[in-house]
Amino acid sequence: MQSSIFSVDVEDWFHILDDPSVPTIDQWADLPSRVEKNFSKLLDIFSETHVQVTCFFLGWVAERFPHLVKEAVNRGHEVASHGYGHRLVYEQSRQEFYEDVYRARLLLEDIAGVAVVGYRAPGFSTTGETPWFFEMLAEAGYQYDSSVFPAQRGHGGMPQGRRDPHPVGEENRLLEVPISVADLLGRPMCFFGGGYLRLFPYWLIRRMAHQVLAQGRPVVFYIHPREIDPDHPRLSMSRKRRFKCYVNLKVMESKVRRILKDFPVTTFKNVIGKYPQLVNTHVA
Ligand SMILES: [Zn+2]
Repeated sequence: MQSSIFSVDVEDWFHILDDPSVPTIDQWADLPSRVEKNFSKLLDIFSETHVQVTCFFLGWVAERFPHLVKEAVNRGHEVASHGYGHRLVYEQSRQEFYEDVYRARLLLEDIAGVAVVGYRAPGFSTTGETPWFFEMLAEAGYQYDSSVFPAQRGHGGMPQGRRDPHPVGEENRLLEVPISVADLLGRPMCFFGGGYLRLFPYWLIRRMAHQVLAQGRPVVFYIHPREIDPDHPRLSMSRKRRFKCYVNLKVMESKVRRILKDFPVTTFKNVIGKYPQLVNTHVA
């Protein structure tokens, strides 16, 4: 079976987006952090199952817990960037976005001691409203991106977007590896991370993953450390948002273990190296 990609957006339980109850960056340091415990547990699961994954670290988290970044490198995982301050792309100006992603890359490289070439936007929030997105990422030194969500979603989403990995930006300087979507009853949906991965039964997730693989694309799985921690504190959001954010946290650890057992997974960097038409100009 062709390799899929497993990724973790390394952030804390309060790094939720787009709701009035979400604390602002000046309040984060006072909240009881859970990321250290949860990410360490994920690293142990990856070691037990002998897989390497891509860890998109939030700069703010990396700054406070640099040993987590170092431990990820020591265990052979790829360190990539989730930006610094966890702001939606389309709520930032071109310049603000550039400064956020540039700062995060330098910080992560300093801690990791290796090149950081991959980026994922908070909330997959690149849309048609941010045409400068790829150019600014390339300018900030990144070589690939995994932020395009080619389906409808609450914030962000590019339903018309291409599904396969493809070059983007001026002179194709960047490689885009979109989030995987599969069609259920004619509707494109992502079953491989977030609320739907928690909500749907595992047999359906597995079937949808095989649909993606049969179309010649790697499945991009993604999780957050808080998702394997059913007891983490909750934000007081609307009933609908609470459901989306917190449904089925209890089943996540066992689902992750089943994915790692059933699908060969690796890092973005390793998978990108397998696209010969892209390797010459991109991450090798
Ligand atoms: Zn995030």
